[in-house]
Amino acid sequence: MLFENIAYVDENFCVKTGFVGVSGGYIGYVGADKPSAGYGERVDGRARILIPGLVNAHCHVPMTLLRGYGEGLPLDRWLNERVFPFEAELTGEDVYLGSLVGIAELLASGCTSFSDMYDHCEEIAEAVKISGIRANLSRAVLGFGDVPLSENARHAEAEALIKKWHGASGDRIRVDYAIHAEYTSNERTVREAADFAGSANVGVQVHLSETKSEHDGCVGRRGRTPARYFADCGLFDVRATAAHAVWVTDGDMDILREYGVTVSHNPTSNLKLASGIARVPEMRRRGVKLALGTDGASSNNNLNMLEELHIASILHRGTSLDPEFLPPGEALEIATRSGALSQGREDCGLIKEGYRADLAVVSLAKPHMLPVHGLISDIVYSAQSSDVEMTVVGGETVYRDGKCLLFNQDEAIENAAVSARRIAEKLRQ
Ligand SMILES: [Zn+2]
Repeated sequence: MLFENIAYVDENFCVKTGFVGVSGGYIGYVGADKPSAGYGERVDGRARILIPGLVNAHCHVPMTLLRGYGEGLPLDRWLNERVFPFEAELTGEDVYLGSLVGIAELLASGCTSFSDMYDHCEEIAEAVKISGIRANLSRAVLGFGDVPLSENARHAEAEALIKKWHGASGDRIRVDYAIHAEYTSNERTVREAADFAGSANVGVQVHLSETKSEHDGCVGRRGRTPARYFADCGLFDVRATAAHAVWVTDGDMDILREYGVTVSHNPTSNLKLASGIARVPEMRRRGVKLALGTDGASSNNNLNMLEELHIASILHRGTSLDPEFLPPGEALEIATRSGALSQGREDCGLIKEGYRADLAVVSLAKPHMLPVHGLISDIVYSAQSSDVEMTVVGGETVYRDGKCLLFNQDEAIENAAVSARRIAEKLRQ
């Protein structure tokens, strides 16, 4: 595949115009001159820009089924009265359908990879496999009581998931380990999980200091912040992604930097659930690695990574009163390359020779994209997901002109709606 005469985001997150050639799943050529090698499909790049695929660093992809369910409740009531009872009714088939719908949303916004934490991960993996998207999946492990990890049923599922799916589909699917959160696990579970992740050589996903009550509760329970506690348990000794980090202290930020933990910033979910606003300018100043996530569609309420990028890039100017904070190129890097690195995918997230061809083509032929004074700022502040014409993962076109190409999107939407209604009606009785 050859993108011809196309504006593209180079490895320094500046815009150039030229040719980008893809072969064997990788970017084989980037340059101003037409390459001499022959390519199959040619994509006319005029009035289009090629960007690295967006990476969603924190998601619960099947939660499309809970979109709009239980709005307006405080977090604890929303979880206990609505989310948990609904989730208890989910079958593997429901999760599979909800995942396909979520993946369709992700691909439509130019997202090529996501990190996920949920239940029924076998079915999520099947959905990832057939849809063509890339993902780091994880089974959320909880642990109560003084029970060894080896007797924890969720851990057994996590271990089986790693055995079966880690590195599957040409490495499109990887499996991380997940500790759901500090307040849903005890110290023994976290310590043994950290050891396990280290010996299995997989990364870790965890929710961290999402709400004030969760953060303060940990300090009360353990005499330490969640970040200090997880670090003490060894959980950050492996590659780790911590979602939210809204209430982390300055000292916590130093811990996160020291251990190289990536924070997945999820601004829409934090705003909608009234969790607060993460201190992203302070994290940047202290050198904490940042990536961008949507969280689940139940708390966002969509999986539109371009919208998330827009919100993340302007939100902190409002709180810091600093109009120079987070230039658009840096925001785009957070949403692409940094996300790929958070997944341990060193060869993803850049338009550069030798990197995996995870790409999105965005149309510039739209009223809101003119007159093109600055292409990166147009992508970050003006682009809509409906401008994404094509999403390519590992050199394969998986989304084009409003349709997922590798599965029947309309059928998935229809069947997922049936699943969601069935559960909602049962719970109403
Ligand atoms: Zn989450």
